[in-house]
Amino acid sequence: MTERLHDEARPMLQAAANLAADFLDARRDSPVSGDESMAAVEEQLQAWDFRAAQPLEAVTAGMFELLGRHAVRSDHPRYFGLFNPPALPAAIVGDLIAATVNPQLAVWSHAPAAAAIERKLLQLFGTRIGWAAGEVAGTFTSGGSEANHTALLAALARRYPDWAKHGVSALPIRPAIYVSSQAHLAWIKLARAVGLGSDAVRLVPPTDGLSLDADALAAFIAGEPDRDPVLIVATAGTTAHGAIDDLRGIAAVARAHGAHLHVDAAWAGGALLADEGQALLRGIELADSVTIDPHKWLCVPMGAGMYLARDWAPLESAFAVRTGYMPSASLQRRDAYIHSLQWSRRFIGLKLFMALAHLGVDGYAQMIRRQLRLGYELRHGLQTSGWRVLNDSPLPLVCFAPAIGGDEQNEAVVRIAAGIVESGVAWLSTVDLGGQLVLRACITSHETTREDVGVLLDVLDRARSKIVPAPAS
Ligand SMILES: *Cc1c(COP(=O)(O)O)cnc(C)c1O
Repeated sequence: MTERLHDEARPMLQAAANLAADFLDARRDSPVSGDESMAAVEEQLQAWDFRAAQPLEAVTAGMFELLGRHAVRSDHPRYFGLFNPPALPAAIVGDLIAATVNPQLAVWSHAPAAAAIERKLLQLFGTRIGWAAGEVAGTFTSGGSEANHTALLAALARRYPDWAKHGVSALPIRPAIYVSSQAHLAWIKLARAVGLGSDAVRLVPPTDGLSLDADALAAFIAGEPDRDPVLIVATAGTTAHGAIDDLRGIAAVARAHGAHLHVDAAWAGGALLADEGQALLRGIELADSVTIDPHKWLCVPMGAGMYLARDWAPLESAFAVRTGYMPSASLQRRDAYIHSLQWSRRFIGLKLFMALAHLGVDGYAQMIRRQLRLGYELRHGLQTSGWRVLNDSPLPLVCFAPAIGGDEQNEAVVRIAAGIVESGVAWLSTVDLGGQLVLRACITSHETTREDVGVLLDVLDRARSKIVPAPAS
């Protein structure tokens, strides 16, 4: 059996690679919104009863077909939704290598090359943040949620020396996490996961409704003297509106309270590879730790997150354990299992390494710059054709609405978004902004062109003209 499997590996892998390339070639001509009917999927799945063995090529072709048809094609160049970009080919190859070699990254000694590659990448991003290479600590994670989870555990370990042993219930004070009310709601889940409960997440309303400012934060904390600010989170690039919190001001508030400052840059942090992106995120260097998701702006396959920090000690307090069966446990070598949440660990960093090696930092910077520019063009195009643009993010994410107000606006926005999604030509979503529903379009794909933005503007204008009178010009 072993021999047979091995003999078949080459033709199987070659066939799969060809089918994968076919899938990529067909991407642009596919409708953006797929068939979302659960019943249709379940019916198709009935054919897969696992009774008879099937040739792998047929199974592979069947999977590309099924998955491509029954999905919102977030990999499409005219998908203007959340940050799930198509994976770069070099990063896909990275995932193939990781699966083929399948190194175990729990301990350094089992896969020194893989461990060193991840360390090198963390240092690269740490220095892009603005830290000295020697002070970069951290770990690759499954995504932003695990990276933020790590931040919360590190903050608890730093602030309360007894927490690692006795847990939160033994603390004489009520630890609190301060975040913008516009922050990613993963914080609620994480507060529950560490036993603090969702009430420990203090949602601070930004003064302008979008990006958290230091005054609002300071006043909010001052109003709750019975709570202990263990973690203050600034978001650099909110999911809904692309807002960047006041990083410098919030850092000063965190310092005044001795709180751990975490910057959640899950999406926008990828832009640090471009000088323009670094300029937008200035102040991020003041953070104690940062989340960046390579599976967002850096276009590697899910899941890939990074937790970057300036200090190993809180990670070791939170995660270090001693076992008799793990080889070569040594703090000096920073075995992953003693400074991170996972134990057996996939080689997450390789797909990012491959993409960086293939594109170079400059290639990535160009990609980011192009997307920033397309964002400006979209914003400008919308304004020119009479839409009200409602956020002023420098990131390529535009919130907008037809120039009407109140309930009529909400209804028009829902109908416009639904009409466009149904057409299959483009995909965009709606989002709440200050109690009103607005349209949200984000440049997420590195394959999106100026022509694609033009198509979006056209379908938007057409959808609007069916619903509201044309704006006076
Ligand atoms: C996406 C995102 C998260 C969650 O990250 P996952 O990779 O989906 O777990 C957290 N914060 C922000 C700002 C995000 O954009």
